[in-house]
Amino acid sequence: MYRLVDMHCHLDRMTNATNVAMDAATRSVAIFDTTVTPTDALAAQLRFEAAPNVRVGAGLHPWWIADGRCGEEDVIQAARLAATSAYVGEIGLDLSKRYASTETVQTHALRTIVERAACHPLPHRVFSVHAVRSVTPVLDIFEELGLLGADAPAGTTVIIHWFSGSSDELTRARRLGCAFSINEHTLATKRGRAYAQAIPRNQLLLETDAPPGLDAPYTARELEASLTRTLTALAELRREDPHALAEAIARASERLLRL
Ligand SMILES: [Zn+2]
Repeated sequence: MYRLVDMHCHLDRMTNATNVAMDAATRSVAIFDTTVTPTDALAAQLRFEAAPNVRVGAGLHPWWIADGRCGEEDVIQAARLAATSAYVGEIGLDLSKRYASTETVQTHALRTIVERAACHPLPHRVFSVHAVRSVTPVLDIFEELGLLGADAPAGTTVIIHWFSGSSDELTRARRLGCAFSINEHTLATKRGRAYAQAIPRNQLLLETDAPPGLDAPYTARELEASLTRTLTALAELRREDPHALAEAIARASERLLRL
């Protein structure tokens, strides 16, 4: 049983990732390693194969599509990986000012990946999704392809990472059964704090989205400290007992990652 679970972390892009994973295990911290390219995902799957506290997501981050670092080959490879992976992410759309001009290619990539996953149902699949100024189109894609809502295969969970949409979008995502991974940045804004109070406990998860800069060293101690700060702030906001909240979130996370 893990004490804390980081449900969205770029572990494999820490230069000392193997040590961080091992140190996290001694601290009773488990990690959902969300990857940003399919090449990273394949490397991380091999690297963490034997790590009991790490689950690797098959990902293709929308920024990598938007700025051309990843192209059609990567989309195809990410879709192929998603077809056989129980863990998918980080995928999604970013329609903020900086990236909105590439909406067409981003949407194509996301649809291709989600469609392939939908065509290859697994009894259990967890997605970690980036949705900046795009919660509505992201939910539309998952719903249309049958991975959200009444038709979704049992055991499918779409986690919206660092939710920043409107309150109507939050209501829709909640009703569709999405989960929400909350980090310290989420709680830094008034709106983020209001959302963190509105999300039902059984749809609430923790994340760090660490490290702050990719391809640099990081520590498990920092992951643990960040998760603990988020948890303490959440318990205070929600007027819940911190131990009971920690326990509920950790058990829910364990079920999602089959730890
Ligand atoms: Zn991320």
